[in-house]
Amino acid sequence: MDNAELVARDLRAVWHPCTQMKDHEQLPLIPIRRGEGVWLEDFDGNRYLDAISSWWVNLFGHGHPHIRRRIRRQLDRLEHVILAGFTHEPAVTLSEKLVAATPRRLTRCFYAENGSAAVEIALKMSFHYWKNLGIPGKTEFVSLHNSYHGETLGALSVGDVELYKKTYAPLLLRSRQVASPDAYHRDAGESESDYAERQFEHMESTLARHSERICAVIVEPLVQCAGFMRMYDPVYLKLLRDACDRYGVHLIADECAVGFGRTGSMFACQQGPVEPDFLCLAKGLTGGFLPLSAVLTGENVFAAFYDDYETLKGFLHSHSYTGNPLACAAAIATLELFERNDVIARNRALAGVMRETTAHFREHPHVGDVRQRGMILAIELVKNKDRREPYDWRERRGLEVYRYGLRHQALLRPLGNVVYFMPPYVISEDELRQLADVAWEGIQLAAKDR
Ligand code: PMP
Repeated sequence: MDNAELVARDLRAVWHPCTQMKDHEQLPLIPIRRGEGVWLEDFDGNRYLDAISSWWVNLFGHGHPHIRRRIRRQLDRLEHVILAGFTHEPAVTLSEKLVAATPRRLTRCFYAENGSAAVEIALKMSFHYWKNLGIPGKTEFVSLHNSYHGETLGALSVGDVELYKKTYAPLLLRSRQVASPDAYHRDAGESESDYAERQFEHMESTLARHSERICAVIVEPLVQCAGFMRMYDPVYLKLLRDACDRYGVHLIADECAVGFGRTGSMFACQQGPVEPDFLCLAKGLTGGFLPLSAVLTGENVFAAFYDDYETLKGFLHSHSYTGNPLACAAAIATLELFERNDVIARNRALAGVMRETTAHFREHPHVGDVRQRGMILAIELVKNKDRREPYDWRERRGLEVYRYGLRHQALLRPLGNVVYFMPPYVISEDELRQLADVAWEGIQLAAKDR
């Protein structure tokens, strides 16, 4: 089997996500045969450094031996069992570990298979909580401009990706988006925290006016990952927690992408520090091995659903593969890697190397911003640096960097014109340097006059 053969078969049968399939008339589809550490290898023997952790799921490299072993051990015992009326050891152990690892308020875990489902669950639980308490009229949610929370209908409703919103508008729930604290838009000379405080006024006034209708505010703490890796100061989280308490509104922290050490702390909300009412976890939860997500919440929420059967207050949500034992085993193994190694400290060192190796990018005439939170570093390409004027999206400049990367051993899939690194934590300093070199050369090529 070689690349061409598998690609031909693929294009006859597979419909790929986040893809205009016609692109593959020119853009090569890369069939991967194996992965080890940060490296992926295709059927022709080409290698690619996975700079984006395969959509941010892979924390400790491909094929990590410890996670593999734990899944194998579980596979010999129990592959799956219904989680209603039955339980199993991996679900119990994982719940205990997640409760111990997350902020104190969070004591209960509810499972699903992906981030979007976790968001749906958090939204429904929040709505249902107010209903069970007999507080009428709370049916809406608030989120930030430029947010992304997944692509099922409820999750899409609280997201703010213009194309998706426009396309699916008639199908979506009512929600409000308020101006975000995205530091990219701060005034020259203004600090990120001053800007976040200033932008919080929009949230404050929305809550002041509409809190009686609002169930919850949902945010991606510190980094709007799918929203071009835009970043904001932790002071915003603190102000938000305080306002949610004052106005009687839940705070949902969607850490599907930023959880598990990505931003420099185990969870991004700990940099507030704030304790959310709901914490959504997915992606890196299993180290990138199997689909699993979890929503953590506190005793007050749990208690609002806990009553005699006839009250019909129980939470209504059930996916067939809820708490799959193999996925839970992978998640336990992932958490064990955090327990055994000082991952956060090592990431801090790696983040420093990422910063150093890209310091010169700021001087590039077509780089409008280089921003970083821990193990996420983003480079924003612009047409005009002084005015930070973006390139026309139709020019697909970021795609040029992607193509260049593929020819030079790097998987650097951009977000529009934002090139970013979000590598597995096992990446070496040399590999980070290699990545920075490829990105620089790719950007040089992409930014050429046309
Ligand atoms: N929330 C956030 C913050 C995300 O980044 C994503 C995925 N990019 C999701 C939710 C949805 O997760 P999934 O793709 O697993 O449904």
